[in-house]
Order: sequence, then C-alpha cells, then structure tokens
Amino acid sequence: MKTRRFLSFLLITATLFSALSCSNNEKQAPKTAKNVILLIGDGMGPAQVYSLILTSSEKTAFERFPYSGFSITKSASNEITDSAAGGSAIANGTKSNNGCVGMTADSIPMPSMLDIFAEQGKKTGVVVTCAVTHATPADFLAHNITRKNTEEIALEISKKEKLDVLFGGGKKYFTERKDGLDLIGKMWENGWNIYDSLPQIENNNARTMVLTCRKHPVKAPERGDFLPQATAKAIEMLDNENGFFLLVEGSQIDFACHDNDSATLVEEMRDFNKTLNVVLDFAEKDQNTLVIVTADHETGGLTFIDPDGKYTRTDFKWSTGSHSAIFVPVFSYGPGAERFSGIMDNTDIIKKIMDITK
Ligand SMILES: [Zn+2]
Repeated sequence: MKTRRFLSFLLITATLFSALSCSNNEKQAPKTAKNVILLIGDGMGPAQVYSLILTSSEKTAFERFPYSGFSITKSASNEITDSAAGGSAIANGTKSNNGCVGMTADSIPMPSMLDIFAEQGKKTGVVVTCAVTHATPADFLAHNITRKNTEEIALEISKKEKLDVLFGGGKKYFTERKDGLDLIGKMWENGWNIYDSLPQIENNNARTMVLTCRKHPVKAPERGDFLPQATAKAIEMLDNENGFFLLVEGSQIDFACHDNDSATLVEEMRDFNKTLNVVLDFAEKDQNTLVIVTADHETGGLTFIDPDGKYTRTDFKWSTGSHSAIFVPVFSYGPGAERFSGIMDNTDIIKKIMDITK
C-alpha cells in the first residue's frame, strides 16, 4: 500500500516537474519573428475601431489580437501630427515636422524599416488604398521635405533598388509629369512588371507594381475587395525563406473622417477588418510573423454619445474636420507581440520591431 502511494507520489511529482520545465522552455524560447506585417489605419483612433465593434454582429479582427497598447503621435513641430510626420516616426523612429516624409526634423533623410529589412535580404512590399506617393507610403519609400512633391516622390520610388511589391493608385505621378518622364516605361526597362489590376500578375517572382487608377482608388465599398485581395497576393508573392516586410495601409479611413462621413468610415473599417483577417489567418498558420496594427493619428475627434443624455443611443459625434491629438491603438500578434502592451511613443514601434527580428 505504502509502496503504491509512494509510486503515485513519484508519478505526480514527475508530471508536475515536466509540466513546469515545459512552461519554462516556452518562456525561454527566443521571441524572434521572420516576417513583419505592419498595418496602418490612417486616422484610426480608438473611436474608429469602436465604430466597427459598435456596428458589427460578428467578432471583429481587432478582437483576435492577444495584446494591445497605445501610441502617442505628436510630431516634432506640432502637438497634432499630420500623416507625413506621424507615418515617418513609425517608419524610421524619429520625430519629424508636419509635412516631411522620411526625414528627421533637421531634414536628414532616414532609412525606413522597409529599407533596413531590404538591406537584410528580406523581400519588401507596400499595399495601400491611396496613391502610392501619398504621405504614409512615401514615409516608407522616399525622403522629401514636403509630401506635396508627389512627382519627386514617384521618381524616387521608381529608382528604388530594393522593393518587390507595390500595389495602390497614383499612375498620373509616374506618367503625366511636368518633366515629361515616363517612369513606368523606365521601370519596365529595369525589370519591373507593371499592371492596372491584380489578376494581370503573371510572375510571382518579378518585382511588381499595380497601379489601379490615376490618383486615389474610389472609396469603400465601391472599390470592392481590393485591399484584402492585394494584401493576400502580396503575402503570396513575398513569402520566402529569408522573410519579408509588408506595409498595408487602410488609407481612406482618414478621408472618411475628414468628411465626418460616418457611413463611409464604417465601410472603410469593414474593408480594413477583412484585410486584418487575411493577415491573421496567414500569421496563425505561419507562426513566424509579427503583426502590428496601429495608426499615424486620429482624424475627426470622433466619439459616440446620446444627444438626449439618456444613455440609450450611440450617435456618431464628430468634433473636427481635421486631426486630433488623442493617442492611437496598437494591436499585436505573433513572436514578441507582448512588447507592444502599454503606452508607447510612435518612435518606439520600430525599435521594438527591430529587436524582435534580430
Ligand atoms: Zn488626414
């Protein structure tokens, strides 16, 4: 009897010990990621995310993320940032002046995380629902004293030696230029494949640009599933043994908020939500991809109130047609994702990402 009790004691101890050492091993496992997918909802503050939760009958993609935090967005020049300085801080980790893309406040050009990853031998891509020369993509792809120099930004993009995938709008900045240059022709000569739509892509291994329109694509839902489909295609084209970096922007969340257009905001958030589900489905399968979702700033000063003060309705209430100073959410999934909890500065995001991908 005693022996049997002693044996079962031994068995329980051994099981406990192996369970403990197992969880220790998990804790000590290196938190490194091979791939990074960064998604920016332009103008997407906490209320923009909540507008989706408020109007959705199903669980949103945002609720699939295990970790979340907040990012402070002010720029070097202003308490309230614009997309150029807000995106630049995320892209290269330095505070810049409003209007500047890919530069410090002293106008020193900074390599973006896309450039750093490309240098490391990872494939890189950008997918947006605006002109590819617009502030946020330009922050990752170019360096200019002002975001308004769209033709200069297009020229710099066309000369990039290390960029594999670029999907969005803005053809006119490549072909209808004051200097008369045909950048699309030049890029074909330099090995790029360039199309008007995603289904035209023939070779997943060639550097590929898809520009669907002259300037910005139309708003959601009229542009269909361009963003989720372009994101899925980009992941398919970029996934390789050395890893990849992909920037995805829900660019027109900001446009809807500047217009204080609640219905379009919800449509843009649904589009972004579908895209997040595509990314999370890939990351869950892959288990080697860090996914970060954040914003460059909030737009519209949005909140939800009952105008009668009875707490029975939730009307959309906009307080400005411009940007606001409120901090923006950060959602994270994958190896090292827990490091994006709490309140951080927008310049901290690249530091954390670089640490996790070392
Ligand atoms: Zn804006």
